[in-house]
Amino acid sequence: MCGITGYTGPKQASRILVDGLKRLEYRGYDSAGIAVQTDPADQRANALTVIKRVGKIASLRQAVPKDLSGHCGIGHTRWATHGEVNEVNAHPHADGSNRIAIVHNGIIENYLSLKGMLEHEGMVFASQTDSEVIAHLVAYHYDGDLEAALKAALKHLKGTFGIGCVCSQEPGRIVGARNGSPLVVGVGDGEMFLASDVNAMLAHTKRVVYLNDGEVVSLWPHDFRISDGDDQSVDPKIDHVTWELDAIEKEGFGCYMEKEIFEQPDSIERALKGRMDSEYGLAKLGGLNLSKKELHAMQRVRVIAAGTSWHAGLVGCHLVESIARLPALAELASELRYRNPVVEPGTLYLSVSQSGETADTLYAMREVQRRGGTVLGICNVVGSTIARESDGGIYVHSGPEIAVASTKAFTSQLAAFYLLTLSLARMHDMSHHDGSLFLSQLKAIPGLVKRALEQRDLIQALAKKYCHCSDFLFLGRGLLYPIALEGALKLKEISYIHAEGYAAGEIKHGPIALVSPQTPSVFLVPNDHLREKTITNLKEIKARGGPVIAIASEKDLEVAAIADDFIPVPDCDSRFQPFTMIVPLQLFAYFCALELGRDVDQPRNLAKSVTVE
Ligand code: GLU
Repeated sequence: MCGITGYTGPKQASRILVDGLKRLEYRGYDSAGIAVQTDPADQRANALTVIKRVGKIASLRQAVPKDLSGHCGIGHTRWATHGEVNEVNAHPHADGSNRIAIVHNGIIENYLSLKGMLEHEGMVFASQTDSEVIAHLVAYHYDGDLEAALKAALKHLKGTFGIGCVCSQEPGRIVGARNGSPLVVGVGDGEMFLASDVNAMLAHTKRVVYLNDGEVVSLWPHDFRISDGDDQSVDPKIDHVTWELDAIEKEGFGCYMEKEIFEQPDSIERALKGRMDSEYGLAKLGGLNLSKKELHAMQRVRVIAAGTSWHAGLVGCHLVESIARLPALAELASELRYRNPVVEPGTLYLSVSQSGETADTLYAMREVQRRGGTVLGICNVVGSTIARESDGGIYVHSGPEIAVASTKAFTSQLAAFYLLTLSLARMHDMSHHDGSLFLSQLKAIPGLVKRALEQRDLIQALAKKYCHCSDFLFLGRGLLYPIALEGALKLKEISYIHAEGYAAGEIKHGPIALVSPQTPSVFLVPNDHLREKTITNLKEIKARGGPVIAIASEKDLEVAAIADDFIPVPDCDSRFQPFTMIVPLQLFAYFCALELGRDVDQPRNLAKSVTVE
């Protein structure tokens, strides 16, 4: 959450900062601002010019004079945690004399006591944010060296932060610090960048250094220096970003979510590529960092995740338990962390997060590691904190996901779980022959997803028909229960329609009271032993006057005949139906949101990459 940008070099800083913020807008979009070290000759400006606006980056762009001077500055797009959304609370925050400006991602937990102490020293606060204390603390300690002042300030702070900081008296220098919130340095040619996400600097450089917790960095146009918590200098490891700028463009689609939904045949293909050994019916997962013996010794699997990643984890656990025959459970990261978990030996923990920065998941994973647990990461963003701190893992390679509501990362996470299930199953009961069959079915998934996408017009028409209903039920059993949860979540996230995902067999225990002609139920009907049971549940809803939209195999003429509306999906082995069934649900949520005029890519109150607890 929240985007940070920083630039120092020969070019006009304000333009680069605002362009960078635009690329990070998905990480927070309630307000934004920049602070630039303006030229002394610029009559309109102070030595440090701070411009902030409520709303999207477009309104900030309008407010920044086109010819604003200055070659060094910082920027921020906010997802408010402390203090309402207004211009004063937007970042950057400056100290009283406008000498120091800071941007902050995260939460300063002890800000109230620090604020009290600083007010006692005579400092006057302008905002209600937790972040403003950082600016005053740095100013309090400033004695000609910004890095030293920031380091002294950090000693007081409790909480999480990614910080960018500039001082009017040190032209061309930016100082950054990281503890729990991502921060990346971009190494250019005679120019340097700072950002919370590489996407902000991709137009300028692909050479990046990911900072670790406890590190502080000073940037000048031609140089940068990193030091750790003990003040020892750190040798930077420069990584090269592998994706191109067009991966973060809309490429002719109306919005990122639409692009990402339709990209899924390719993104799933990427997740599987090079990882299928058809000859031996095996999955090749090179990054697990576990020997065959160690993996074989695992007696159970636990998934730690949040939101959509947790739904992928629920599917994964179902697969691991039913196919690899290891007990498996998926747990919400925010619950696991605080319940004093027992970490048993022989347990394989899987920490699942698209961004690899999800605070709840990261902290839960650290708690498990502290207790001796082995944790593998299933992440999309290469070099992210979870990817680096886990003991090994699987990158899902879905490419940058910009829409706040996750779609392609979800199906790529599913692909990773199918591969891992195969690995574990082949170590236990699954035969060579069954492994090869499983792989051939997995190989067919991108093609099946492509065919599922062909129902777009039908689904758009259904969205038009139903989008004015204020409540929905999403119902499925077995492997399709987590898909029902995910379908309901998608609808809530982007259309703001209330939706409940339920295990279809569970509705008679309460939620059936919600059924009425105004409350449609979306049924996911599998083509296995649970089909009959699901049809019974469907009829229970019909009997009570509830409209039913059923999604089932294109061959299932019986379901097509009973439902009020029917969305056919390509027929496949029921073990792989999560892939084909999620596609219509993503499209349904997307078209409902579109119909209702919602901001699909940037839904209200949300932001991508949840780096706060
Ligand atoms: N806690 C800070 C605020 O509410 C920073 C939030 C963010 O990460 O955007 O202003």
